[in-house]
Amino acid sequence: MKNIIISIDGASSTGKSSLAKALAKHYSFKHIDSGAMYRALTFYALHHQLIDKNHFDIDTLVYHLPTIEIDFSTDDFVTLNGKIIENEVRSMEVSNFVSIVAKETLFRKFMVAKQRELGKKGNVVMDGRDIGSVVFPDATIKFFIEASMEVRAKRRFAELTQKNIDVSLSDVISNIENRDHIDSSRDDSPLVIPENAIVLTNNEDGLSHLLEVAISKIDRLNH
Ligand code: C5P
Repeated sequence: MKNIIISIDGASSTGKSSLAKALAKHYSFKHIDSGAMYRALTFYALHHQLIDKNHFDIDTLVYHLPTIEIDFSTDDFVTLNGKIIENEVRSMEVSNFVSIVAKETLFRKFMVAKQRELGKKGNVVMDGRDIGSVVFPDATIKFFIEASMEVRAKRRFAELTQKNIDVSLSDVISNIENRDHIDSSRDDSPLVIPENAIVLTNNEDGLSHLLEVAISKIDRLNH
């Protein structure tokens, strides 16, 4: 039997990862946060001084790719060459550079190959920007999550301050706007609503409502 793939796409901080996590828990599937994979590669580039405000040494990062293993621990935390870097990849520094790394085709090919490999291992809920459109166009069910800028910025700000990351709401908003722009306008796999995706709006009702709606759509597939 084919593995079940639930894809969840949407812009940053719309709540797709929280929904993906909750669905994975509900169905006992693996959760793959594809954004964390792009973040891990960006963390590597920053750590090796391959990217900063003024330059991005794409060639050297490409040269290093065969030595870079991005994966997930048994409890779904992102790993870089075997080390869990879940907290490190959430920093504002990584957030500020990740979309610049993610728009390069060679890095996307590297990630898509890994994501498809992970999808072969078992049933998964995978969230990102291009999961239903490019990585798994034949996913069992596809969701696309939307949310207002206010809800997104508040959610991201709360997440960061909870982790004691010192940031202002205006920095959070400008990071989200900047990533929205790069992610939606890039040539390779821009953020789009995938064909046949169910569009859900994440508003003030929060996760429990969204989860209930998503589960009802998924369970309907079996009837
Ligand atoms: O989901 P998250 O906001 O953590 O993703 C970080 C960045 O990774 C996005 O802003 C986007 O540039 C990139 N990304 C992507 N394709 C994906 C997932 C994330 O380009 N499937």
